[in-house]
Amino acid sequence: MRDVIIIGGGLAGLVNAIQLARSGLDVLLLEKNQYPFHKVCGEYVSHEVVPFMKSLGIYPLEMEPAQITRFQLTSTNGNQALLNLNLGGFGISRYAFDHYLLQKALDAGATVLQNASVEYVNYENDEFQVAWSGSGEGFSRLVIGAYGKRSKLDKGLDRGFISKRSPFIAVKYHIKTNLPLDLIALHNFRGGYCGIVKVEGETFNLCYLSRRENLKISGSISQMEEQILSQNPYLQTLFKESEFMFEKPLVINEVSFTPKNAVEDHILMSGDSAGLITPLCGNGMAMAIHSAKILSQLILRYYDPKGFPRYQLESEYAREWSSKFARRLWVGRATQNLFGSPWASNLGVGLFKYLKPVARKLVEQTHGGPF
Ligand SMILES: Cc1cc2nc3c(=O)[nH]c(=O)nc-3n(C[C@H](O)[C@H](O)[C@H](O)COP(=O)(O)OP(=O)(O)OC[C@H]3O[C@@H](n4cnc5c(N)ncnc54)[C@H](O)[C@@H]3O)c2cc1C
Repeated sequence: MRDVIIIGGGLAGLVNAIQLARSGLDVLLLEKNQYPFHKVCGEYVSHEVVPFMKSLGIYPLEMEPAQITRFQLTSTNGNQALLNLNLGGFGISRYAFDHYLLQKALDAGATVLQNASVEYVNYENDEFQVAWSGSGEGFSRLVIGAYGKRSKLDKGLDRGFISKRSPFIAVKYHIKTNLPLDLIALHNFRGGYCGIVKVEGETFNLCYLSRRENLKISGSISQMEEQILSQNPYLQTLFKESEFMFEKPLVINEVSFTPKNAVEDHILMSGDSAGLITPLCGNGMAMAIHSAKILSQLILRYYDPKGFPRYQLESEYAREWSSKFARRLWVGRATQNLFGSPWASNLGVGLFKYLKPVARKLVEQTHGGPF
């Protein structure tokens, strides 16, 4: 019987694995893909994570992540505002970052199974049975659900958001282009927004969220980019003049921002499995890492002989998750309404241009402080 089985090896799963394995727990992490692999994500990490990552020795300094200090916002018709960021962030590809954290988890003594897609979790008599592809099976006292935005497991748990269709799709590329290295840009287009940021090497990330209708109207991703995204002159230039490095775009459907529960049927959810913040906030990854910090600390208390019982672990985690993140998610959802329409995106640009202190306050509302 394992101490902890972690489902999903993204940032939340890997950071939980590193902390728990380093503290001597018997940890099994199950990841359905094989590292390294690409993921749809804007790849801008808020600097709020840096003190914690440095304290664990897992800040990827040797990969020379791009340091981002300025923000550019453009409206659907190409009006722009620039803002110096108080906290800023770094750019790093998930291909490199997740793989780097995998090595740290293995060094810490965690067992990691790749190509292991979890199909079934059952809780009975104070223990979990977990089954994965290829007839794999394991038992544990605790299970962490770190399987991201959406999984077949959510269906089994009958989670509310899974039955509702989300109106959003997301698309990602890696490109070579000629842009400032210290800038994160968010370009509006009708029904969506597109982020660009430098990651490691000579690569930039280009990732956008769009209403599904855009794809329906246009017929294909490339026509949508030509007919709708390129109405913003900044995006037109980017799509015309950049070198696209993937053979085809990475696309995901059903990106849902509906609130979720941090604990479901005794499974402790970490990262996006507990709640996804709208990507324009640029700190879903920081939240995934922060949630792993909080959860691991509580799990270590649960395993301490003088610690607390399961019901207290679950209720303390749900309470802490909500107090740290629920408001940020709400502000993120509300702010997203300022994106993707001509008048609202021009209003947003006006705010960032002429009311910089108010704009900074808004950015702060979607971010936590360094932890
Ligand atoms: C379009 C878009 C742009 C974004 N841009 C940014 C940004 O710029 N900055 C930022 O901070 N955040 C951004 N985010 C959010 C960020 O990507 C997530 O918050 C972050 O990836 C959450 O990490 P996670 O570990 O919870 O989930 P993930 O990174 O999704 O990891 C989950 C893992 O679980 C695995 N898995 C799933 N199901 C199973 C299963 N059944 N069995 C085994 N393994 C399984 C998956 O393969 C995956 O590796 C963006 C999100 C979107 C949609």
